[in-house]
Amino acid sequence: MDDPATREVVVIGGGIAGLSAAIYLGRAQRDTLVIDSGHSMARWEPTVENYLGFAQGVSGKDLLSEGRKQAERYEVRFAEDEIETIAIEDSVFVLRGKKGNYRAKRLLLATGIFHLPPQIPGVKECLGHSMFFCKDCDGVRVREKRVAICGANNEAVEYALGMLLYTACVVIVTNGEKPHWSEQHARWLQEYEIPVHEERIHDVDHCDRKILSLRFEQGREVKMEYIFTTRGDIFHTELAESLGAKLDEAGQIEVDHCMRTSVPNLYAAGCVTPANCQMIIAAGQGATAAQAINRDLFEESLTTHSLRRFREVQLEEEQTVPEGT
Ligand SMILES: Cc1cc2nc3c(=O)[nH]c(=O)nc-3n(C[C@H](O)[C@H](O)[C@H](O)COP(=O)(O)OP(=O)(O)OC[C@H]3O[C@@H](n4cnc5c(N)ncnc54)[C@H](O)[C@@H]3O)c2cc1C
Repeated sequence: MDDPATREVVVIGGGIAGLSAAIYLGRAQRDTLVIDSGHSMARWEPTVENYLGFAQGVSGKDLLSEGRKQAERYEVRFAEDEIETIAIEDSVFVLRGKKGNYRAKRLLLATGIFHLPPQIPGVKECLGHSMFFCKDCDGVRVREKRVAICGANNEAVEYALGMLLYTACVVIVTNGEKPHWSEQHARWLQEYEIPVHEERIHDVDHCDRKILSLRFEQGREVKMEYIFTTRGDIFHTELAESLGAKLDEAGQIEVDHCMRTSVPNLYAAGCVTPANCQMIIAAGQGATAAQAINRDLFEESLTTHSLRRFREVQLEEEQTVPEGT
């Protein structure tokens, strides 16, 4: 259904960055709408252990639902929709979604990314439980365990080397891909004696989402407990690109220290920017973007005298309020 209002702010993406921004914008009394298609990566994490304030951990789903409730307390509105195109008409962003159309003076893109899991049968079922993407998030969980790093490039080698801080049992599996790491990286593999398995993996044996072993195509089976992959990431930047926003070499939206993109009135926050893809960083960026948007709208209200008109109404109404109430 179309939203008839031109919102002061629309946030596309109700994940960690978008919700954090929404809380700040709601508390700043900004007329804010969050449009979300419901695929936050945070849903995949059963126990987030590195988010400040949760000593026993918190599930990603709970962080999202509590974050939404927190934003709703400040009258932020939500729409479940997926935005397909955006145009700028008379300095207003006109958004077309699968279910409706929306208009906004300021737009925040908090659309996130998608980590590609390795194409190995059995892996998807173990996502977030014994199949991980992020050493910083999950390395500490695999201390003294048997860990395979899936990849064939320099990043995979560095991942494997970094993982040695947690466990002595680290192997690289390239799943049939020919290694294309540098000579220096090959030397490191030799120096640190990290085994490399180049065979294709037939499937992953698992039980209750716990990986038990890797079964290679030629019948060999290697006991394993965890897999990390060097992330192949898909950045959700199509909307930013369609508006002419600059991307960096990796395909992430370029932002300044206030989360402004190269397009006026367009902001971006969270994993879709060059941030390290962590929840607490996404939340911080959302808050930074919201503060910048709030400041920009305030300055605009001074130049356009809309604050003065608001004040006139306020003064008029104040005379009608009896003293002492
Ligand atoms: C398995 C797994 C485990 C993880 N564990 C941890 C962890 O333990 N600790 C940690 O710090 N981080 C962890 N992360 C990373 C964490 O999930 C991300 O850092 C965080 O979710 C990023 O927030 P974001 O707002 O940028 O993106 P997201 O939270 O992914 O939110 C993006 C939102 O935008 C919406 N969206 C995208 N395009 C559109 C559109 N066109 N229209 C409408 N809505 C749209 C999506 O549906 C989604 O809801 C993990 C990630 C994965 C995959």
